[in-house]
Order: sequence, then structure tokens, then C-alpha cells
Amino acid sequence: MTDRVLVLNCGSSSVKYRLYDGETVRDSGTVERVGEPGGGPADHVTAVRQILDRLDLDGLGAVGHRVVHGGRRFSEPVLIDDAVLTAIRELVPLAPLHNPANLAGIEVAREALPDVPQVAVFDTAFHHSLPEAAATYAIDRDVAERYGVRRYGFHGTSHAYVSRRTAELLGRPYEALHTITLHLGNGASACAVAGGRSVATSMGMSPLEGLVMGTRSGDLDPTVIFHLRREGGLGVDEIDDLLNHRSGLLGLTGANDMREVLQRRAAGDPAATLAFDVYCRRITGYVGAYYALLGRVDAVTFTAGVGEHSAEVRAAALAGLDRLGIAVDPARNAGAGDRVISPDGAEVSVCVIGTDEEREIAREARVVAATAG
Ligand code: ADP
Repeated sequence: MTDRVLVLNCGSSSVKYRLYDGETVRDSGTVERVGEPGGGPADHVTAVRQILDRLDLDGLGAVGHRVVHGGRRFSEPVLIDDAVLTAIRELVPLAPLHNPANLAGIEVAREALPDVPQVAVFDTAFHHSLPEAAATYAIDRDVAERYGVRRYGFHGTSHAYVSRRTAELLGRPYEALHTITLHLGNGASACAVAGGRSVATSMGMSPLEGLVMGTRSGDLDPTVIFHLRREGGLGVDEIDDLLNHRSGLLGLTGANDMREVLQRRAAGDPAATLAFDVYCRRITGYVGAYYALLGRVDAVTFTAGVGEHSAEVRAAALAGLDRLGIAVDPARNAGAGDRVISPDGAEVSVCVIGTDEEREIAREARVVAATAG
């Protein structure tokens, strides 16, 4: 096989693609507003067909598909066959916005490229190592079992990549390192990684739980939902939309982009100031909790849009943790690129590392396709 790999990432309303020749990106892009009125392609099938039509796919060795939910079944990337496709379809109730889009991408690519191995890389897979005590919600066991109610965790590709890169950056063996990874993008999650295994993560049954995100609330008392239903008369779908698409930074400030929140905060806007505080405080709490769970922490690593680019968020999220050996050096924090931002001699290395989920998916797809022969 060749080293040429296409990565397809079908989100709920977009399709991202990247074509690799080995480590070189040959082509890439994003098709947005899929299925939205007035603009983009009618659906994911159309969007993926358009992408495949215009790419030079000669000698393609594999297609790597990002699949959001792998449920309890998939603990690693797999070669896609009919049985895998059926299994991903059966997981749609757990990821109603994402898995159908992922399926559409897979089906179109299989049809257009029948001789090319197609590989599914799951967002949940890295978290298969979660201890039962971390994955279990304290509700009736039979109900939980019947409806698949448990913590699966997401952003696994990113947490795996970034924790491994942290070990490389520090020149330490991955198998021995205890790291807290903070993926702060539009979606955001924290993960405690011990020796290359995820042992705690902030997203749960869906990507709604945990940290404050661009449009998602993160942690919430479930009573909020009953209350909005009973007292506010909101429908379940309305509440779902409220918590997933109209909450987080957007709900608190009217803007889901952290850059805008930071600008408004700098100008003294009280709503933006509060949103920033809520956002950073939540991260601080998770870092403390994961410190307690890990027992020993070697590194805290920031990644994704906000994590890579906002020195203010990094400084505020870790402020006051000196007693845990966690501190940020202001000059290093203000720098750029993959780097350590803690002071020399600090007990815990605080790092900034650029995530690259597409590259990691390409790598995994290549490995699986090679074993497929
Ligand atoms: P996604 O989760 O969609 O892959 P990213 O990881 O690219 O998103 O993160 C997107 C978010 O990163 C944006 O919404 C924006 O708020 C934030 N961001 C990007 N650049 C900066 C910056 N320079 N400062 C603060 N936040 C930033």
C-alpha cells in the first residue's frame, strides 16, 4: 500500500477533509453549513461526494473516518465492514447528531472507493481503559444497563495524541507519565492519563458533561432539566437544544468565540468577565480533582483553540495551585509553539501542545490498513 491517506471528519453541520502523502498534507479543507438552508450542500452525502470528486485520490492506501461514538464495543480503530457499519448505526441513539453524519461519510466513501480500506477511528476508544468506578453513574443498575447509560468520554484521539506528545516533549517514558490533558476548543474536555491510559475524563455519556464550552453548559444539576420542563413548559428537544447549542460562553455572553469574550472582558464587560471566571474555575476544579485521583501529576497539558492560544485562560485556570506544584511562568506562557510554560524546577511541567486529530486519524488508519493486508 501507499502512504496516501484521506481523513474525513463529518461533523453535525460540516465536513473536514485532509489528504496526506506520508506526513505531508497534500490537500485539505472544510465544507460548512451542510444541510442548512441557504448555502451549503443539501446533506453529508452530497458534501462528501463533492469532496471525493475533486480530490486526486490516485494510489490511495486508506480512508480514515472520525466516528464520534463507539459505545462499549470499540476500544480501538477498526477496518470497516458491514458488521462494523451496523454496529455504528446501532449507536445512533447515543450520538444522534454525530453518528449519522459519520455513517453518511463512510457509506459514500465505500461506494466511491470500493477497493480502498476504510478505517473507523472512534472519539470514545481511548477511554475504554476508564475504571468501572469512573465510567459508572450512581443510578439504578438495570436502568443504566438497559439504556447504555454510562460515561464513555470523547476527544479520545486528541487526549491520546497530546499525552503522548507531552512525554516526547519532556523526554520521559509515556508508560510512566501521569498527565492531565485539557482540550479547550469549541468542545472542551479534561482527561487524566496514567501511563498512556485514560483513567478519568470530564465528558460522559455525551459530549455535554464537564467543562464549560463554546455553546454547551458542561456540568449541571439534572434538576435544571426537570425544572425547565415543569415550570418553564419547555419541551425535551428544546432543552436539549438550549444546553447543547445556546449555553456555555454563548449563553453567558452572546458570543461562543473565546477571542470575543476576552476582548469584551478587557473592555470591562461584566457578562464576559463572569463567563471567563465560570470557564476557568471549572477547569481549576477538574485539575484539582484529577490530581487527587492520579495521586501524582507529572504534567498538565493545554491544547486546542483556547488551550493553545489563550495565555489568560491558562494562567487563570491554574492560578492558586502552587501548593500542588503547579505554576505558570508568565514569559513562557506568552510565547508560542509546543513548549513547557512552567518555571524551571517546578514539580509539575505545564505544557502547551498543538493537537492534530486528523494526523492521528491518518496514522491510525495507515496502521489498520497495513494489517488488513
Ligand atoms: P474545534 O473544537 O471546533 O476543533 P478549535 O480547537 O479550533 O475548535 O477551537 C476553537 C476555539 O478556539 C474558538 O471558538 C476560539 O474561541 C478559540 N480560539 C482560537 N484562537 C484563539 C485565541 N487566539 N485566543 C483565544 N481563543 C482562541
